[in-house]
Amino acid sequence: MKLSLIVLSLLLVAEGIHSSRYRRFDPATKENYLKQAKGVLERVPLIDGHNDFPWTLRNYAQNQIAALDITDLTKLEPWASSSSSHTDINRLRQGQVGAQFWVAYVDCKTQYKDALAKTWEQIDVIHRLVKANPSTFEFVTSSKGIEDAFSRGKIGSLVGVEGGHSIDSSLGILRMMYDMGVRYMTLTHACPTPWADNSQLDNPGGVPVNDGLSSFGKLVIKEMNRLGMLIDLSHVSRKTMRDALETSTAPVIFSHSSAYALCNNTRNVPDDILKLVAQKGGVVMVNFYSDFVTCSISPATLQDVANHMDHIRKVAGVDNIGIGADYNGVSRVPEGLGDVSKYPDLFAELLARGWTESDLEKVAGLNFLRVFNGTEAVG
Ligand SMILES: [Zn+2]
Repeated sequence: MKLSLIVLSLLLVAEGIHSSRYRRFDPATKENYLKQAKGVLERVPLIDGHNDFPWTLRNYAQNQIAALDITDLTKLEPWASSSSSHTDINRLRQGQVGAQFWVAYVDCKTQYKDALAKTWEQIDVIHRLVKANPSTFEFVTSSKGIEDAFSRGKIGSLVGVEGGHSIDSSLGILRMMYDMGVRYMTLTHACPTPWADNSQLDNPGGVPVNDGLSSFGKLVIKEMNRLGMLIDLSHVSRKTMRDALETSTAPVIFSHSSAYALCNNTRNVPDDILKLVAQKGGVVMVNFYSDFVTCSISPATLQDVANHMDHIRKVAGVDNIGIGADYNGVSRVPEGLGDVSKYPDLFAELLARGWTESDLEKVAGLNFLRVFNGTEAVG
């Protein structure tokens, strides 16, 4: 009798969690979840792994930012009418962003040409962006730096380099980039480097160039470990993911990737790799780009992004999820997640699905801080 009651109540609880995603909330309930989500983001820094704002600074302002006021870019052209402009100070504050990896990205056409010069220019523009807005941003290079900046009400600003082509196959350049504040490198972008294969090579007809990481590629991993630089596996091939996970003594990140099981784009992370990332204590920072969320031409929704988080939680665990929205890098963002002001809405949705406040603290920043700490400890 007692047992059947317990079973029944367990079933009811499970059903409650399961069906919550389909339930429509009355405005008051929704408002409460939003309030609760905002409370979490007041306590713990929301750390986003990937924002391409510096790339739009190059495209729209030729990196001439001395006279550019980025407080509100919703009325200034060409930002105002661009579908790839999702970031300004007002909206970062509204979204309660605690720390941001600003991405020093240069495209694959620069490989073997001017990749290095352009990457330095992007790192430079990030430094200048932070210096020009000292009441909003604080340049940080460590996990402790993120926490300190957050306690001062500043948005901790970090640099990630997106694409191994940016180091021109030179460990010396990698080391100097670390000295200039770079704290993660994505091993490839949409092209193989001479030492690492990219995700597109996993598409039908793709031919591996390095069979994952070459021996020099493994040396790059070891040098990143030694420096204490985060290894970012977004954009790389599955074999590169496996090789890096095997070679690295530090946990790894995916700075902006979602779940392959829900959208079979090779930019997303397959379940077997999700499990390996969890085993190594890493973090998959979920991408909001519509094309990686639903693999469909119709725009994704906030709920679709939450489905990816539910899935990664199920396969890897709640300790291995983060946020890497990819704002300003993509044109199609989900309904309900139109710009950097919308993070609290996503966290409210997770609460509605039965995630706890402590789960949300992990997803917002504690998981990433653990990985960053672990990487610093190895370095
Ligand atoms: Zn990317």
